[in-house]
Amino acid sequence: MYVDEVLKKVNARDPDQPEFLQAVDEVFVSLADFIEENPQYKKANILERVVEPDRMIIFRVPWETDDGEVIINRGMRVEFNNAIGPYKGGIRFHPSVNLGIIKFLGFEQVFKNALTTLPMGGGKGGSDFDPKGKSDAEVMRFCQSFMMELQKYIGPNVDVPAGDIGVGAREIGYMFGTYKRIRNEFTGVLTGKNLGWGGSHIRPEATGYGAVYFADEMLKTRGESLGGKVCLISGSGNVAQYTAEKLIQLGAKALTFSDSSGFVYDADGIDEEKLAFIMELKNVRRGRIKEYAEAFPGAKYTPADPTLDHNPLWAIKADCAFPGATQNEINGADAQNLIKGGVAVVSEGANMPTTPEGVDVFLRAKILYGPGKAANAGGVSVSGLEMSQNSLRLSWSRQEVDERLRGIMAAIHEQCMIYGYDEKSKYCNYVKGANIGGFKKVADAMLDQGVV
Ligand code: NAP
Repeated sequence: MYVDEVLKKVNARDPDQPEFLQAVDEVFVSLADFIEENPQYKKANILERVVEPDRMIIFRVPWETDDGEVIINRGMRVEFNNAIGPYKGGIRFHPSVNLGIIKFLGFEQVFKNALTTLPMGGGKGGSDFDPKGKSDAEVMRFCQSFMMELQKYIGPNVDVPAGDIGVGAREIGYMFGTYKRIRNEFTGVLTGKNLGWGGSHIRPEATGYGAVYFADEMLKTRGESLGGKVCLISGSGNVAQYTAEKLIQLGAKALTFSDSSGFVYDADGIDEEKLAFIMELKNVRRGRIKEYAEAFPGAKYTPADPTLDHNPLWAIKADCAFPGATQNEINGADAQNLIKGGVAVVSEGANMPTTPEGVDVFLRAKILYGPGKAANAGGVSVSGLEMSQNSLRLSWSRQEVDERLRGIMAAIHEQCMIYGYDEKSKYCNYVKGANIGGFKKVADAMLDQGVV
């Protein structure tokens, strides 16, 4: 089969990029029947073209610590596909960053962006720089050095980066300032900017809010809503914080937060006041989640234990789960524990947080499983709306952007239903739906534009 032939070539070409191969494999499995039924894609060899990025840029990022030590990090930007719009996707600063991870994220981004209904291609970038424990001045010098090189390849009509793990409003500000200084132009070259200088209302909230809106759309298909539901959240960064905020607003109860050192479990629920503590802890003091259990003695802290074959966070009884930390944080055993604990809804704020074994468990159990490509597309959607506002030199109200976000999440859900709902079993496979829906839009544009 054509799909298998291309998959074999991808595996042979990049055997050292497991996350990228995992992401490609997942998409190809979903596409197999669709591709056989639509021979035009094979004729134009769309699959082999869509797995190879337009270009991959790798560069040195030298910078100085406060003590004058010279450090060299590696920076990169993968411009994956611009068939339907300028490259668009976040920048990740984390020590685990390598080309395979950025390629997996960029590949996912291509289809995710196509699902948003907005005209955005896919890309991703990052560096193995770790902002944790660095002073603001060190982070600024790093961001300036990073952008000194990156600015050669991006632009408001070419490639528009945003934030991701380790890149929030602070880093976006330093990078925007550098771009503006070098290019002497004030344009919407980055999204996730602060409100006072070109940012959009709801952009910080968008990924978390969107994952909750998506869960709500999935629940509606079973005549239910989020009110009163008990929820597990992982991570404690941007996505996790605003997932919790929206859940609280909708009357659900969030029990957990985590970081790479461990997780906190608060059986009484994380209310607005406790969430404000987490936001201050993580966004201002840049501390560890452990401090939550010190501030709220009813909560229990469990340190991460790498010798375990599962994460006890996912064994807590609940109705819904919102993974919001990083890739492959739910394995097969975790997925089993979630099902045993009563979870019937998983909406992924993080990118590819569930391993293929875990995904199989969810699909076999026929739970409402919203993969990241669909469920966390709210972030890039409001980034797209930020680009529109920058082009118009206008700023929409908070209410207007939130309504558009809700509408986009509903439209993404609708596309998943069109391509993923099976009449016979009355079950929607959202993985299949998202992959086919996203692929079709990009592939059709590629067909129209010829072999380029
Ligand atoms: P963030 O603000 O930097 O927060 C990341 C959180 O995840 C932190 O609590 C971090 O803990 C934890 N984490 C990161 N790597 C980890 C690891 N290897 N093991 C355990 N915990 C880890 O990042 P974010 O923007 O919320 O992004 C979280 C996820 O959402 C990522 O998968 C990202 O790709 C995805 N996403 C983000 C957006 C967006 O708009 N920001 C949009 C779509 C998807 P430590 O502080 O201990 O590292």
